[in-house]
Amino acid sequence: MEKPKIVVVGSSNTDMVVKVPYIPASGETILGTDFMTIPGGKGANQAVAAARAGTDVTFIACVSDDSFGKQAIENYRNEGIDTSCIKIQPGIHSGIALINVAEGGENSISVAPGANSYLFPEDIYGFEDVFEGAKMVLAQLEVPLETVEAAAEVAHEKGIPFILNPAPGAAIPESLLSKVTIISPNETEAAIITSRNEFSEKDVPIMAEEIFEKGGTTVLLTLGGKGVYLKTFDFEGIIPGYKVKAVDTTAAGDVFNGALAAALAGEMDLKEAVDFAQRAAAISVTRMGAQPSAPTLEEIQHVQF
Ligand code: ATP
Repeated sequence: MEKPKIVVVGSSNTDMVVKVPYIPASGETILGTDFMTIPGGKGANQAVAAARAGTDVTFIACVSDDSFGKQAIENYRNEGIDTSCIKIQPGIHSGIALINVAEGGENSISVAPGANSYLFPEDIYGFEDVFEGAKMVLAQLEVPLETVEAAAEVAHEKGIPFILNPAPGAAIPESLLSKVTIISPNETEAAIITSRNEFSEKDVPIMAEEIFEKGGTTVLLTLGGKGVYLKTFDFEGIIPGYKVKAVDTTAAGDVFNGALAAALAGEMDLKEAVDFAQRAAAISVTRMGAQPSAPTLEEIQHVQF
């Protein structure tokens, strides 16, 4: 059977991770133990999660012609992702994250977006044909906002549902929100969208309502291990997640969004798709790493919690 097609627009990074005994202070040099180079970036993580969850993914991104960019493209090809719309931008480095992970799990991260900042609206309009036949378009906020707006516009014009995972947190212009079909912030991102400096558990339904009122769009507010708060025209409430022994929650949100897009592209109804995505995310938190932790369709279908 032919797989449903989706388009993911977003970032591609290489995470360079050093395991350290503790996070070094300013001016301090310490010796680490292990070093790993791991593919990352929210766009790439979500593209890989969606591909493993059973969709035919076209990934629109920008990398450099350096070795990191070449390696990233090879990795996406190995995942069965269509890389023909990945722009190669010479003269700038590919997206990099430098990560120190201390023994207790504490980390410090610096990101140099590099080529990710060179994915422009004209690239989206240039690739407009590839949206033909897509069942879903998925984007995050690690590439320029104008580019995300262009992707939303193309999706809107072609009548394709558009999922926005508004991460990292930023204010979202109403012109963009009005073209979003589903928005999936976590609690911190929801607080930023609704202009709050602080929030508590009781604010969750209010934040979901405010975002819903702004855009008339379905709101899926993710609550970590507690599940998601869903707000639509005819439903509001918590859909609990699955209880698992979490080992590494990095990229739970990315796996959730990739799997959600895959499920909706496969024509599951919204609540079924949320359940599918929560299964996938729960599996991912029981494993180390971001992209490596994303489960396959078979794993999601057969997992027992
Ligand atoms: P991250 O920034 O780590 O990628 P996020 O903050 O964007 O994650 P979360 O709200 O933490 O997103 O998680 C997304 C979904 O993943 C949750 O709605 C839930 O279904 C699942 N999830 C996250 N953490 C856990 C956990 N500890 N146990 C089970 N499921 C989890």
